[in-house]
Amino acid sequence: SLAVIEDKPEDMVSRAPIVTVMGHVDHGKTSLLDYIRKENVIAGESGGITQHIGAYAVTLENGQKITFLDTPGHEAFTAMRARGAQVTDIAIIVVAADDDIMPQTKEAISHAQAAGVPMIFAINKIDKQGANPEKIKEKLAGMNLLVEDWGGKYQSHDISAKKGTGVKELLEKVLLEAEILDLKANPNKPAVGTVVEAQLDKGRGYVSTILVQSGTLKVGDYVLAGKNHGKVKAMHDERGHNIKEAGPSTPISILGLDGASTAGDKFNVFEDEREAKQIATKRLQLMREQSVRTQRH
Ligand code: GDP
Repeated sequence: SLAVIEDKPEDMVSRAPIVTVMGHVDHGKTSLLDYIRKENVIAGESGGITQHIGAYAVTLENGQKITFLDTPGHEAFTAMRARGAQVTDIAIIVVAADDDIMPQTKEAISHAQAAGVPMIFAINKIDKQGANPEKIKEKLAGMNLLVEDWGGKYQSHDISAKKGTGVKELLEKVLLEAEILDLKANPNKPAVGTVVEAQLDKGRGYVSTILVQSGTLKVGDYVLAGKNHGKVKAMHDERGHNIKEAGPSTPISILGLDGASTAGDKFNVFEDEREAKQIATKRLQLMREQSVRTQRH
């Protein structure tokens, strides 16, 4: 069964912040995530990020890690929250300095606020003619969001996601925010986490990207995720490396689940395979009954 394990204070270990990038369309979310993914290969880490698995972790020069959800936009964020999953620790709100605070910017801000997730503003495209970061900060001030330069509490940084200007400093600010949050998790227990995405891969079967939030996931563990279950046959990181164990804040793609779980599904490790199967079957049955009921109405 699902053993309830009390976390002892001495078991709590610092974990990497999990970051979501949000903002208005075309303001540079994808460019920022791409730049960080491509540039952040530290010495000793063999190879760059080769796989798109829906989340990736980077290591900064000082050895600290940041995990990014690699699905730009707040659709993923809201879909996960709608399913009761809270995976994001910090939200980067990208605003193009040659534009304005647009409707999706406002939406992103309200989503972060509703979730109680701290925001850092990335004022982007400062390389462009006509870029005016101060105007954006003034507009933010008008929304009661005072950035640090303006004497407020919100961190912000002027960047060019295209050229990479200021991105390193932006990431340092993410780490500063993480330090204030004092993020900790117990790695010494069976893993608990959230499904980020899942798909059927021809030849490999169902590939699920999951984010371990506490505990440690191991190859051979028996996992229940939403209506799906199965034994973890293999785990890969975003660099395509085979790995045996994944601790808190680690994004990982796994093989072995018997179907495609939904983004936002919680996963748990079960000691008893039979119990996991029973719960999965029950959930599937409930879902079928619900869909029959909705079809009747
Ligand atoms: P998203 O919709 O928010 O993901 O925006 P994208 O990352 O796709 O960027 C939209 C457009 O703006 C693309 O043509 C990018 O090349 C461009 N872009 C993004 N960041 C920058 C930047 O820092 N400087 C300039 N000049 N263009 C940028």
